[in-house]
Amino acid sequence: MRTIAKNKVKLANHVSKLPLVIHSRLEKVRNESKHWHPIWTGDTGYVKFEVHGYPANHVVDLGKRLCTCQFWMLTRIPYVHACAALARVNKSLEDFFHKLVTIESYRETYQHHINPILG
Ligand SMILES: [Zn+2]
Repeated sequence: MRTIAKNKVKLANHVSKLPLVIHSRLEKVRNESKHWHPIWTGDTGYVKFEVHGYPANHVVDLGKRLCTCQFWMLTRIPYVHACAALARVNKSLEDFFHKLVTIESYRETYQHHINPILG
């Protein structure tokens, strides 16, 4: 009960769309993505990119939220290749996180309470 109550207070005061732990990861990804160079494939949706960098190039599809490194699919968090492509199209990285890693999901987790019992 204490944990749920404590987390409810923390979440009530949290204004960002993402939890703090995700924010710190986000900053690392943003910095590392500067070493990657997205090249638009020419598709009509402006969502497919070949992202060049070391040690291998990757294919990013922003529409399907996929990258050939598989990190985005596994973690639901865009990795450096997707981050580079998103910067190219001026879209917010935060909008491409899966709902499960957003603060909204944390709020849904702690929306309930445990009823106290006697004795
Ligand atoms: Zn990737």
